[in-house]
This record gives sequence, C-alpha cells and structure tokens, in this order.
Amino acid sequence: MAVFLRPGEKRQGAFGVTFDLNAGSSQPVPIFNKNESLALQDQRRRLPAFQHRREILYLVENHATTVIIGETGSGKSTQIPQYLLESGWCSDGRTVACTQPRRVAVMTVAARVAEEAGTTLGQAVGYGIRFEDVTTPGVTKIKFCTDGVLMREMFEDPLLTQYSVVMVDEAHERSLATDTLLGLLKKVQRVRPDLRIIVASATLEADKVADFFDSSTVRGAKASAADLMRKPALLSIEGRTHGSQIHHLEQPCSDYVRASVQTASDIHREDAPGDILIFLTGQQEVEDAVALLEEEARKVRQGRARLRMAPAPLYAGLPAAAQLAAFEPAPRGYRKIVVATNIAETSVTIEGVCFVVDCCFAKQTAYNPLTGLGSLLVAPISRASAAQRAGRAGRIRPGHCFRLCTEAEFQQLPEATVPEMQRSELAGTVLQLKALGVDNMMAFDWLAPPPAETMVRALELLHALDALGADARLTEPLGQHLAELPLDPRLGKALLASGDLGCSDEVLTVVALLSVQSIWLSPHGQRKALDAAKAKFAVGEGDVVTALNAWHAWQEAGRLGKWAHNHFLNHRTLLRAADIRAQLTHHLRRLGIPIKSCDGDVMTVQKALTAGLFMNAVQLSETTADLQNPASSGINVYKMLRSTGPGPAPKLRVHAYSVLAKTRPQYLLFWQVQQSASGFYEMLDVTAVEPDWLPEAAPHVFHRVGARAGQR
Ligand code: ADP
Ligand code: MG
Repeated sequence: MAVFLRPGEKRQGAFGVTFDLNAGSSQPVPIFNKNESLALQDQRRRLPAFQHRREILYLVENHATTVIIGETGSGKSTQIPQYLLESGWCSDGRTVACTQPRRVAVMTVAARVAEEAGTTLGQAVGYGIRFEDVTTPGVTKIKFCTDGVLMREMFEDPLLTQYSVVMVDEAHERSLATDTLLGLLKKVQRVRPDLRIIVASATLEADKVADFFDSSTVRGAKASAADLMRKPALLSIEGRTHGSQIHHLEQPCSDYVRASVQTASDIHREDAPGDILIFLTGQQEVEDAVALLEEEARKVRQGRARLRMAPAPLYAGLPAAAQLAAFEPAPRGYRKIVVATNIAETSVTIEGVCFVVDCCFAKQTAYNPLTGLGSLLVAPISRASAAQRAGRAGRIRPGHCFRLCTEAEFQQLPEATVPEMQRSELAGTVLQLKALGVDNMMAFDWLAPPPAETMVRALELLHALDALGADARLTEPLGQHLAELPLDPRLGKALLASGDLGCSDEVLTVVALLSVQSIWLSPHGQRKALDAAKAKFAVGEGDVVTALNAWHAWQEAGRLGKWAHNHFLNHRTLLRAADIRAQLTHHLRRLGIPIKSCDGDVMTVQKALTAGLFMNAVQLSETTADLQNPASSGINVYKMLRSTGPGPAPKLRVHAYSVLAKTRPQYLLFWQVQQSASGFYEMLDVTAVEPDWLPEAAPHVFHRVGARAGQR
C-alpha cells in the first residue's frame, strides 16, 4: 500500500492523513447544468476573468500584443474569445481564433463556449483539429483550433486576413507548434499592424513572450503612441484556487501504475466525496489503470462516502466521443476517477476534482541530432508541472495531491521543462516553414532557437526525401505535396510513392495506423494472451503488415467493438485510425493520386514504406550474449545503414513487443524507437526489407554508405 506523509509530519495511520467526511457534504460538488443558460451566464460572471473584462478589451484595443497570465480555470480560454465577440471584433465577417496545443482542449473548450453562447457547435462557435473541421465558413465567428491547424491555414492565406485577433493559448507548454506559430505571427504582425495577438499562459513564461513581441523602438517617456501600441501589454488575472495539500510517499514506489490505482482506491474507500484525477504517462498505462480500477470497483462496491467508482480514461489518442466522457459529471451515486496523461495538466478543466494522484512522470520527446534518432522517453516532470498538476485538485475546495515520489525525489526534479523545439526532430516543421516562404531557417525569429545540428539533420532528411532541391527550395510537385499532407514527411513520402506502386489503398491504412498509438491492447499481466492474439495476424514482413492484417479482419468483422476486444485490439484507436484514413483519402484524391489496391502483393507495400523510411533502415550486425537472460539465444544487435555522424554508432534491437522479436531478419525498417535502460534503442513497428530496395528509394543516400546495400 502506498503510504503518504503530510509535509513536515511523522506518519499517522495507514494513509498518513484523515479527512472530514462532512467537509464534502457542506460544500457540495457543483455539477454544471447543460440546459440552463441563465445559470451559465451567472457562472460566467463569477469567473476571475470577468473582473478584468474591460481591462482586457482596452489592452487588446491599444496594444498589438497582450500577454495574459492566469491560473487554470480563471476563464482565459472560454471567456476572452467571447468578450472579443461581444465587443465587435467579429463584425464585418472577421473571426477570432484561439489556438491550443492539444486536440482535446480544442474540442472541450469549443463545446463549452458554444454551450455558453447558446449556439450549436460548428455555427458561430466552431473548431478545427487535424483531420476534423467543425466550422461553417462565413458563419463561424470564434474558431478554436490547434496551433498546427492555424499554421496550415497560412498556406492558403499567409497573412491570416480572416482573423482580427489570434489568441495563442497555453503558451507556457512551449510545444513545437506553439513556438513555431509565435514566430510566424510575429512576421505577420509586421505586415498587418491591425492584427491583434493575445498570448495566454498559466505560468511565468510571460516575460519571455512579451520581450519576444516587443517591437517598440523607444522606451520610457519619449515613446510615441505608435510605440506604445507596439509594446506588448502584460496582464495578470488572479486565480480562484483554494490550494492543495501535498503529500509525498514515505518510500519510493517501483510500479506507479499500481500505486496510483491503490491510492485512488484508498481515497475512494475512506474519503469525502469529490472526483479523483490520476496522472500517468501514456495510453497503455491509462488503459491498464482503468482496467485495474474497474476490477477494484467490482470488489469495493461502496466506500464510506456511499459512492461507487466510475473510472474514465483521458488521453490524446481517444476518439472525440470517448474523450468527452471524462468531462461529463459522474452519474448520481458515483465518484468519477479520471485517469489521464498530462493533457489534464493545464489545458482542460475537469469539474469536481478534489483529489489528484500524480505519478510525477510524463512521456517526452528526446532527440539526438548526432545520431538523428528521436525517441519518446518516460521522464520525470518538472517542479513547475507538478505544481500545475497539484493545482487541479484545489478548485472547488481545498484539495489533496498525492505525489508518487518521496519528498527527497521531488527536490531532485528540474525546475522547468525544456521547450519542445530544443528536443525534437524538426523535418516536419522545416518543411512547413519552407512552404510558407521562410527560406533561411537560421534567420527565422525563434522564441528558442533549435540546436544547429538538429536543423542540419532536418534539411538532410528533406533533401534525401527529395522534398528540397539543390537550391534548398521545395521541389515541385513532391515537396509541395508533402508540405500539404498533414503527415510526417516520411509517412507522406511513403503514401505518395504508393500511388506509383499501385498499393495506395493499403498504404493509406498503414500511415493511418502509424499516426495513432498502438492498436493493441496489452492489459497488465496478459502478455502471453496478447502474443497469442497477435500471432493470428502475424507475418514475417513485420509489425506494420501484421497491423494491416488485423485492420482488414476488423473491417470484415463489421468494425465491431466486441470483436476487437476479443482479439486484443483497441477499438477506439482503430476508429480514430479509420477517421484519419478517410481524411487522407480526400487528400490523395485532391492530389490526383489513384486509390488502388495491390490485391495481396505485400512487397509493393514494403517498397512504399522503404520510399519513406529509408533513413530508418538497419542491418543485423552481431548477436551478443544477453547478460540479463543467459539462457536466451542472445541479443540480435542492429546498426543503422545510413551514416550517423561522429561518436559511437547507436546500437539497436527489435523491441520485445514486435512480432519479429524472436526472428533474425537481416534488414529492417523501423518507425519508432524507444531507449531502454540497457543502452539499446528498441525498434517498434518494424518491417523486413530487401537491401536492393534502398538505393532504388534513395540513390544519393545509399551509394555513399559502405554497407552492401549501397554498393552500386
Ligand atoms: P482557463 O483557460 O483560464 O484555464 P477556462 O476558460 O478553460 O479557464 O475555464 C473557466 C471556467 O469555465 C472553469 O473554471 C469551469 O468552471 C468552466 N468550464 C470550462 N470548461 C468547462 C466544461 N467543459 N464543462 C464545465 N465547465 C467548464
Ligand atoms: Mg485554458
């Protein structure tokens, strides 16, 4: 059992803390009422943002850029766009845009604002996310969208002329797309002084952003009106939080998924009403925890608060309808336990949360420009993130946050997170900037400049894909088309190549499946059963073709959820892939690429993948003894076929989850790698290939490599 201590206190009782059951009942958890617009208007006036309504409007009127700081829940995302609408910023056919780094936030905030404004979603209030557009041209006045979607709109309308105000929300997250968008907006603003920019942030990244947008030339008393206009305004909206009491573990825990379930169960059994929010790192952990909680819910029918448990998952890969379930109030008699990834950290408001359980880790991208390998790592969060997470508990009444680490461990955490721009692979970003006419990447106005080596790698990859020509400009039509496709350029290239190879029908599915998280369910402790289920679809070509087989079987079974579940497939992920596939089909049609099936000629699919993923080609180099598992036949070590720069060559192996884990194919392509504790990069989504396809796919890369594959 997880044992927590109050700060500065010796342990008391099994749980370390006791709660007053009556505290909950005297302050009932407010449940939002969908249909009472009067009550909604009342709620709007009670938000901290409302106190600053006039001030916000005055600053936006008089400053090109306004930076607004405020606690989560103060009304930045839902209220400010409505204030702008109410005061005329959407007249004459103009629109207010509000961008969010995350899809879930876009959808929930848009739904809430449509409700408050008393309109149907998609009319006056709409939203856009990749692969989904819920707006009506000429009618939509407030558009919520991801930063990525707004950036794509600039392909058609580089100056964003439709918009009077662009509000960039959650800027403190410093996502790749947010940082890029801020740089682009600064450029637009130079040409369009009438464009107003609002940057909203929950923490104190604000000064950095304000400095970035400061284009006033004269400071102090002599500043002219125009200079004042160019000087960003800074406004702080004070929060309305009751604070959270923090509890740390007494002993470090080894399995935070189980510890989080245990902690939530303990809270549920013993404590006052109030929903619980658990932070874990990814889809798999969330699904595992939800399954464990469901098991627990069958055992513990009711806790002391006479409630039953209602677990709900929340992660980015969930289809929209399933995501929204996490936001609905729990049915009467239930306590909602939302199990989320860090999407619940700041961008969305989940009503009714009084308890937070934080594993203190998050999945983060890491990129090594020397090897050109990017991977996802589960890494400790920063103290700033942990504070945000804890804050989620204190909105209704003083809350409690249970961190699944010791106080000493907590003190070791970094203070703030490194911007994504400085730890990501940038080929996709560079491709988009090129398409927007940014020729010199180093001269672009970056909020935080990426490492020069990363930029070199990105340009190299785009050259290898033939997206950039010798003049470093986008090629016609390939580079243009790749920039237009809402896909990673490597997957885009595979898709475009499939048109010529006559397998676009299959590759559409493949790239859709590679654009979502794993389609396989792997419930805790059921690895054997999962492997058996996978074996039904498994083929020697590898994981990608195996997934394609599973997809076809799911189609033939009528896309049934029960069927998917029986075959260890994640039905929700498959549905999302189906959405993505449908959207990509439109794109291909628009580009005039025929949709053709290869009728089982799998080699064409492998070749199409080679056309996109050749930089991720590896060759078996040696088999070494497996020190941790001496009885095994050893570890098959692979090395990259392309050059990987100075320093020791990265060592790769096939991930244990792969259907090829127990075989020894000579040549492989991978889509993702994870770094393991043993120093290996573990390859996921692998496909077996023939070496002579590589120089065919990328002649200028593979004639240089010393490997047999490249010797022409
Ligand atoms: P901020 O952007 O400052 O974090 P929001 O504008 O998202 O704040 O939310 C302001 C308030 O609106 C929240 O405190 C909450 O009471 C309410 N709210 C927002 N979204 C929802 C929702 N989906 N359901 C119910 N209430 C919501
Ligand atoms: Mg917000």
